[in-house]
Amino acid sequence: MDRVIIFDTTLRDGEQAAGGALTIREKLEIARQLERLGVDAIEAGFPFSSPGDFEAVSLIAREVRTPVVCALARAHPDDIDSAWEAVKQAKHPRLHLFLSASDIHLMYQLKKSREQVLETARDMVARAKQYTDDIEFSPMDASRTELEYLYQIVEAVIDAGATTVNIPDTVGYAIPDEFGSLIGGIFQNVPNINQAIISVHCHNDLGLAVANSLEAVRRGARQVECTINGIGERAGNASLEEVVMAIKTRQDFFNLTTGINTVQIYRASRLVSELTGFSVQPNKAIVGANAFRHESGIHQDGVIKVPITYEIMDPRTVGIPASSLVLGKLSGRHAFRERLAELGYSLSEEDLSHTFTAFKGLADKKKEVTDRDVESIIAQELRTVSEVYHLDCVQVSCGDRGIPTASVRLIGPDSQVLADAALGTGPIDAVYKAINRLVGVPNVLTEFSVKSVTEGIDAIGEVLIRIESEGVTYTGRGIDTDIIVASAKACVNALNRLLVVRRTAK
Ligand code: MN
Repeated sequence: MDRVIIFDTTLRDGEQAAGGALTIREKLEIARQLERLGVDAIEAGFPFSSPGDFEAVSLIAREVRTPVVCALARAHPDDIDSAWEAVKQAKHPRLHLFLSASDIHLMYQLKKSREQVLETARDMVARAKQYTDDIEFSPMDASRTELEYLYQIVEAVIDAGATTVNIPDTVGYAIPDEFGSLIGGIFQNVPNINQAIISVHCHNDLGLAVANSLEAVRRGARQVECTINGIGERAGNASLEEVVMAIKTRQDFFNLTTGINTVQIYRASRLVSELTGFSVQPNKAIVGANAFRHESGIHQDGVIKVPITYEIMDPRTVGIPASSLVLGKLSGRHAFRERLAELGYSLSEEDLSHTFTAFKGLADKKKEVTDRDVESIIAQELRTVSEVYHLDCVQVSCGDRGIPTASVRLIGPDSQVLADAALGTGPIDAVYKAINRLVGVPNVLTEFSVKSVTEGIDAIGEVLIRIESEGVTYTGRGIDTDIIVASAKACVNALNRLLVVRRTAK
């Protein structure tokens, strides 16, 4: 049976999504989960674009062993050299070059002729080939490129040494039948096509990224570029979990397979959602909260009798935890560790102690601690960026009389204790004013949301904020049973992220 190569670009195209900036440590953690998930290739970043990206790619190249680690580069000598410098320590390095191909891009953006572009593509692939054998080339905006010219480019880059040729629907314009014919046409019209793998990279502007990818696979493409939860530029990319589960669930139709260990899907989805701050819509296929919930009585009756009546997939196949009620105030360290193991986490003793203390603190305030609560604790305790500032204490006074007032104490660099108080239009405004005055980095709050992690009056509140500073957006998360405290933690978290990202980018 034929196998489809799963090329994950969560860390490159996914991170490119507005407001999705990740720290290097977070990128590495996602890369490790992608390795457990069994993806064939990880596109780790675009090294020439920033020093932070360069460092992230080289770290992932050193740490990840099984998958191919790929670095993106424009078809330009400096870009290619920098990409190779970043990725060269990988066990399986790949260079991915891209260059515009459509007349629209050539005329208005590159201002070059077709001949010039063809020559650059050929030369740059040859240059990259001196570094490594594994070369991928993408003619950007392929779905809007004149067919004869597209065939010429594909043939030329394969001739120059490209081992994978990726056909991107850069702007999400294609329709499945049409995109399938485009792929079929390449197989029929490019003489040396058997010397390379054809890949596709589809965007979701019309909601067709997964459909287009699957149609391309049906017509012979053997690599799909996708992201966890479908995140990416604008409306995002093809969602990895949907592509993989469609191929698996409808093996009778596709007669194809992937190397994905599907039980790791749910965890990958949660991790990416927590770290990027992009929550998953409840009705999202495969990983949404309602994806396996049956509401209609007739459906429930059927599923209780025999699941296959209304369930085309077993939720356990994608790693959705079976039980939801777990621990309480009396649960010990051992039970906590066991539950973590069941959820797929293996922590060092130090991290375990840390997390266990947080769990006990929560169990004192909340009767039942569920899997979702445990995941939140882990996200809060282990995945937050290294703390430049630590929130030591926050206190507010508010109500419908008087002026909302907040006092805040932070522990800053070199264990310096900083305290201030501020007035605001409401308690959160007052808290944010006090924190911002202490940290002193100009920023604008662009998004603020509160949600409860689980049901019930004693649920944990999760606050997600986005702040903007010098044109870059930073995400912050905070959890607590008190939403004012959660808001303060989210604010400090976003500022820490800003300071850490800014430090590595310089
Ligand atoms: Mn893209």
